[in-house]
Amino acid sequence: MNWTLMSALQWSADFLKTKGYESPRVDAEILLCSVLGFRRVELYTNFDRPLDEAERERYRNLIRRRVTGEPVAYILGEKGFFGRDFFVSSAVLIPRPETELLVERVLAAITAQLEVDPSRQIRVLDAGTGSGCIAISIAAFWLESLANRFTGASLAVDAWDVSEEALAVASKNAERHGVATLVRFARTDMLDPAVYREGAGGSGWNFIVSNPPYIGDEEFAGLSSGVKDFEPRLALWGHPDGLHFYRKLAQFARPATAELGKIFLEIGFQQGESVKALLQSHGWDAVSVELDYARHPRNVIAVNPR
Ligand code: GLN
Repeated sequence: MNWTLMSALQWSADFLKTKGYESPRVDAEILLCSVLGFRRVELYTNFDRPLDEAERERYRNLIRRRVTGEPVAYILGEKGFFGRDFFVSSAVLIPRPETELLVERVLAAITAQLEVDPSRQIRVLDAGTGSGCIAISIAAFWLESLANRFTGASLAVDAWDVSEEALAVASKNAERHGVATLVRFARTDMLDPAVYREGAGGSGWNFIVSNPPYIGDEEFAGLSSGVKDFEPRLALWGHPDGLHFYRKLAQFARPATAELGKIFLEIGFQQGESVKALLQSHGWDAVSVELDYARHPRNVIAVNPR
């Protein structure tokens, strides 16, 4: 058989489909692009191009991995987030589009603060940074859009993770996006109260952001196999009730937050009221549960009162 782009795509998309995968055609196209070094649109203008034996072999290997349920992002080793490509490995959670909303909300708050006080030294903590997607997106936006506008201001981002392997991925991402000097990575367990006191310095962080593990035992059982079998449990499991990290953050982060500083949390869509109550019980003020584009509760934001 003479394999062309078209026939290879059709065959592999059908094959993935019979295995029950959700977006077989898109996955097949993305993987073929990576073999050929093509952009998606180049596939469409080269449907009749034959695949040589080496290309077919490489493509077959990628499709084979996908058939085991391995997410496309791990196969490619990267994932787009907030307009940039981030390296990922099985040591880090794959960045999710909903988390872009968390970044947008933090950036809006930073910008609003600089508009009031243009010479502010802004300190941000990203607790549980994983691939670094949140911390790095914030730092990159600062460089691109805020640093020139607020020349008297400065930004410093602390990014914690308990996993040495995750930090290695995150550091590579910071290099890749030119923010290695703005983001300070540390191997830190956010469940340890001492690390907040040590890290906060004199006046504390202005903004604390976290997308912590928040899957409880019950939901864990129901996760799709692509997530459950391939993404790191350490990044997913929020202990039996899923709320463990919020409980600790609510308690430990407030004394480490500057006066009128804010915390931004990503949550599971059923956790809004519980997380709100936890924050309130630890003295956080103006706690609000914010929706995502699917109108599900997705972020909880709160203020450290004066
Ligand atoms: N902060 C990272 C992200 O949003 C990692 C989150 C996690 O591992 N729970 O993707």
